[in-house]
Amino acid sequence: MENDKEIGQWLTDFNLSHPLVIAGPCSAETEEQVLKIAHELKNSDVSIFRAGIWKPRTRPGGFEGVGAIGLKWLQRAKAETGLLMAVEVANATHVKLALEHDMDVLWIGARTTVNPFAVQEIADALAGTDKIVLVKNPVNPDLALWIGGIERLYHAGIKKLGAIHRGFSTYEKTKYRNIPEWQIAIELQSRFPDLPLICDPSHITGRRDMIQEVSQQALDLNYDGLMIETHCYPDSAWSDAAQQVTPTTLKQIFEDLKVKNMTVEEDDFNTEMIKLRANIDVADSKLLEILGNRMKVAEKIGALKKEKNVAVLQNKRWNEILGKMILEGEEKGLSEEFILRLFKAIHQESISHQQKIING
Ligand code: PEP
Ligand code: MN
Repeated sequence: MENDKEIGQWLTDFNLSHPLVIAGPCSAETEEQVLKIAHELKNSDVSIFRAGIWKPRTRPGGFEGVGAIGLKWLQRAKAETGLLMAVEVANATHVKLALEHDMDVLWIGARTTVNPFAVQEIADALAGTDKIVLVKNPVNPDLALWIGGIERLYHAGIKKLGAIHRGFSTYEKTKYRNIPEWQIAIELQSRFPDLPLICDPSHITGRRDMIQEVSQQALDLNYDGLMIETHCYPDSAWSDAAQQVTPTTLKQIFEDLKVKNMTVEEDDFNTEMIKLRANIDVADSKLLEILGNRMKVAEKIGALKKEKNVAVLQNKRWNEILGKMILEGEEKGLSEEFILRLFKAIHQESISHQQKIING
């Protein structure tokens, strides 16, 4: 699939003066809950109301969604508020029911995007319709799989498409629920500049106090919109309680976000600059994370050396590392002088971490 201007036309047609906002609860719980949230989001920057009807839960036994009855509540919310309605679909039956209930936007969840059989089934069930379909990234950091999902829909004739970046699973403990790996979404964006890219800070962070920060990062990276889980009583939500915000908090988030005016031509330079700087910021925090991890490994080595009573500084090993890094650096266009200075600094920090362990 090549980039195609047509796939993002639906968003241009919305004619918004701000990024697209999709908001609503993680799950539809009761008719009253759906209607209350939808009414509070009416007359705000929100264009699309989201609610999960069928919930893919990692472990059985949790709340698995209210099922098809929830579609009736969403239909009512649409009639009363005028908001467009979005639901997650994971198979052909879901698609059929969503179409019967006049849903406007369907999204494919992260646990479904990983499965080409399921995505193909959904694409086939949608063929011939003109629904907006948004594809969340797969749970694993695999850009080809994400693009593959989008392609299956495109080949089925779905031309109103978008991608939702909700972060990636990792076994490592990080401050995120799902690590963003921004570079993957940035690459998707540069391969398909006309594919609307929407950030889901709720599932990336898993905690409401980080939603603002991650939303701002996404806007700085030129994302086209945000999907934010919103609930009138977040702490009592039946799923994803820790990451949902109230409609009032959501409105405050919009007020605090710095949105660039992307329509002015002279802003092209600034827009590109902000995007590139955001890329640098992402790279820098990755560097620090990697350095931090490297020092933790050094500390483990320190503990081993302490146990075996071995000297901290081992010149032979150090010279081997340096030689290897100079060669690798050269391949990446980094000068020998830079590699020497960089690794000298890293090595020194490493030794002092080891010494702390040994003398501590
Ligand atoms: C959701 O949007 O509530 C959801 C289940 O998200 P994801 O597919 O990103 O886990
Ligand atoms: Mn959720």
